[in-house]
Amino acid sequence: MAKIQMKTPLVEMDGDEMTRVIWKMIKDKLLLPYIDLRTEYYDLGLVKRNETNDQITIDSANATKKYGVAVKCATITPNAQRMTEYNLKEMWKSPNGTIRAILDGTVFRAPILVKGINSLIPTWTKPITIARHAYGDVYKNSEMKVKDGSKAELIVTDKDGNETRQLIHEFKGSDGIIQGLHNINNSIASFARSCFNFALDTKQDIWFATKDTISKQYDHTFKDIFAEIFETEYKGKFAEAGIEYFYTLIDDAVARVVRSNGGYIWACKNYDGDVMSDMVATAFGSLGMMTSVLVSPSGVYEYEAAHGTVTRHYYKHLKGEETSTNSVATIFAWTGALKKRGELDGIPELSAFAEKLEKATVKTIEDGVMTGDLYVLSTLENKKKVNTEQFLDEINIRLKEMI
Ligand code: NAP
Ligand code: MG
Repeated sequence: MAKIQMKTPLVEMDGDEMTRVIWKMIKDKLLLPYIDLRTEYYDLGLVKRNETNDQITIDSANATKKYGVAVKCATITPNAQRMTEYNLKEMWKSPNGTIRAILDGTVFRAPILVKGINSLIPTWTKPITIARHAYGDVYKNSEMKVKDGSKAELIVTDKDGNETRQLIHEFKGSDGIIQGLHNINNSIASFARSCFNFALDTKQDIWFATKDTISKQYDHTFKDIFAEIFETEYKGKFAEAGIEYFYTLIDDAVARVVRSNGGYIWACKNYDGDVMSDMVATAFGSLGMMTSVLVSPSGVYEYEAAHGTVTRHYYKHLKGEETSTNSVATIFAWTGALKKRGELDGIPELSAFAEKLEKATVKTIEDGVMTGDLYVLSTLENKKKVNTEQFLDEINIRLKEMI
């Protein structure tokens, strides 16, 4: 059978450890036999990042801007221990942070659902996608401990030197604490556009919530910016697509999410997203089943697995021991990118292939063939644990049947 041809290359960002091992296996077994794969390859493995003084990460982000779609393998974010392990020149920054800063994007995380791996919340039968605003608030704060008898004020000095002051609190009878937060309207607007674009893209409703009744300036600004951008740029497109933008208070949102069936995007302020994404991910099961996509406000996409490089499995692999590492999220990063490329370049057979690969992957698990992380969770009666490579071979058997 003739291989599927591509037009524009995908930006391919290779990575580290066990996910790097899986990366090559996925390409060799599930992609290269079927697609005349065109990629522009960037090795974001820590060795290469160190060699290039991290320039390779910047180059890969710029290539993503140029071509529009990237697929990324998990990468090590160096810490003190990695400095010695890899003999690093510097403690290089998180590649994801660097890429996100260049693309000004928002990360959307969604679980892949399969029969037999049930959500801890039984009503959640469809995925809940979380979008977290990745700028400001408590993550870029300024805070102090304050002595009894002190007066704390907010002071803003404008560009002409005029001061505006507002009392925070007069500490009488006890020491205390204060905190200064900020955000930027442009960043909130980018976040809103990324969210609305992704909702249109995936044909899902989008929910957004803040505490605007209590925070009448700060949180209310988030609400207003979302409302204005929706009214002026997206209302018509949403009506056409048959989807909704729904705004409510954060506590009401939490209550509604728990009662819901899923199937929507939940946009969260930075802190809410940090907390809620861990809650949602845990309820849906394994990290190996969580996908992630970075969407820029201009409509550039970078797909990846939400998990890291699975270091513990990699050390076993290096010792020649058998591993059973879940490759599903990494496979779905590839299929997400291929589908998007197919859609943008008008190659329906590329998108159709990606859909089949996703179906073959889900079918493998639903047939009872799975990696160890899922084996302990699955409620199927006839289930079998396979190793990293066998799992991909089993997917390939089913993929061949579908093609
Ligand atoms: P991790 O790689 O996600 O792994 C944590 C644990 O979760 C694993 O030890 C494993 O548990 C389980 N797990 C995660 N993914 C799995 C999969 N696909 N299949 C089976 N089990 C899976 O997180 P980490 O250990 O905190 O971080 C390791 C490295 O990854 C670090 O250097 C970190 O900087 C990097 N990281 C990168 C990204 C990214 O590039 N997006 C994200 C997070 C972390 P068991 O060991 O119990 O089997
Ligand atoms: Mg968190």
